[in-house]
Amino acid sequence: MGFFIGLLGLVAGLLLPALSASKKVTKKKALLVIGIAFLLFVAGVACTPTSGKKHNAGPPAAGETGGNGASPDNNSGGEADTEEPSPQPGQAGTGSKEETDPATTNPAGKTTVHFIDVGQGDSILIQTPGKNILVDGGERGETVVNYLKNKKVTSLDLVVGTHPHADHIGGLINVLQAIPVTEVIDPGVIHTTKTYEVYLTLIDEKDIKFTEGRAGLKRDLGDGAKLELLHPSAPSGKNLNDASIVIKLTFGDVSFLLTGDVEQESLKQILDNYSRLKSTILKVSHHGSRTGTSSAFLAAVSPEAAVIMAGKGNTYGHPHDEVLAMLDKAEIKIYRTDLHGTIIVTTDGRTYELNIKEPYRYNPPQAPDPEPSPAPGTSPEPQASPAPVPQPNPAPVEEDKLAVISLTETVSAGETASVAIRGKPHTQYSITVTYKSGPSKAAGLETKTTGADGRVTWSWKVGTRTTPGTYPITISGGGESITVNFTVK
Ligand SMILES: [Zn+2]
Repeated sequence: MGFFIGLLGLVAGLLLPALSASKKVTKKKALLVIGIAFLLFVAGVACTPTSGKKHNAGPPAAGETGGNGASPDNNSGGEADTEEPSPQPGQAGTGSKEETDPATTNPAGKTTVHFIDVGQGDSILIQTPGKNILVDGGERGETVVNYLKNKKVTSLDLVVGTHPHADHIGGLINVLQAIPVTEVIDPGVIHTTKTYEVYLTLIDEKDIKFTEGRAGLKRDLGDGAKLELLHPSAPSGKNLNDASIVIKLTFGDVSFLLTGDVEQESLKQILDNYSRLKSTILKVSHHGSRTGTSSAFLAAVSPEAAVIMAGKGNTYGHPHDEVLAMLDKAEIKIYRTDLHGTIIVTTDGRTYELNIKEPYRYNPPQAPDPEPSPAPGTSPEPQASPAPVPQPNPAPVEEDKLAVISLTETVSAGETASVAIRGKPHTQYSITVTYKSGPSKAAGLETKTTGADGRVTWSWKVGTRTTPGTYPITISGGGESITVNFTVK
């Protein structure tokens, strides 16, 4: 506005003398008018608010957000007020000193994602330049609270309980008790455990804003950090794992997909509903259970690195071998809290860094048969001691060489004994079990033909009146013969 007044003044100042010249106005007077006009002009320019043209000249980020289309897509159910103008305290050091790309308001500063080692469970701390967010809290206990205190996190802007299982929300109880929380997002499915009840009661008592997490919910976290929920659309509550909230966190070019414990059905739904799943880092679902990963899902997400959150020596056998094999095959780097401890990813929105440099190396389980195959050729000595062969697997297993691959070494009279061999494929093998009384005629000891894999198994009942002792089993076929012993008690 002032600009125009100034401009008008300047124009008037230039025109007036010209007009008045004819009226013989003194030169002095004309100069005075020009001077005043010029002053007005300068003042006008100075008062004009900086327009969109210059957005990198240093006014603090708060002033900019409105100006150049920071996020036109922030239309998620009146959440505009999540944009606090001033960053939260406790995060002071992270303000970006260097100027960011003037063409974009994208990432300023750094975002850090902590995959906290809570044993068998999930807990992920996200620190954007302006916000602290916690996704899950592991089992009940102080582990996460202590971690937060250690990282000087004194308040949380958002807590997400992906689903009501104790290995996810248990520790959130301790967090809610110890640290001020602004909002909790939860799938809102009914679950009748004490843990869930205590958690809900705390949210209520502390008067924390509670939001049901549904696919499509978006939050602009400021500083170029965004969060979107991809799941659940409508949780059935039948399978609590499938009710898990799935989050995509984006910071510039680097993104994280946090999948809770979703299982196959949800993976399919997410694949159907979202075409842009590609993420830099994937938190593998359900602690690396085979129920939480599919190759189709991995192909769509196509992460550079995968984080598996599982407890060392957990009773579920997580992570499952199939999942490790899938990740390995897709050439995705694997990081595991059970082996690496807490995994911290820091990103400036362009590249990222992991505190753990060396990924876990997947070694497929040893080749075809887990049994230590007996020495090639006949073995006259009793089979009783399986001889812990320390040798690095002697003699590459010759596929066609006849070998016993399993045997019931000791059987009580009246029980069933069995022996399995591997020989030539599609070949007949006969078996002879010789007791004190002579060759057994028990059912199950007929000549058999191996399958395509060269394997065949015999099972037979050891008579109740068989004399205890050690007896030979001889198997012949394909031009070979092998004898092993077994003992009847
Ligand atoms: Zn879990």
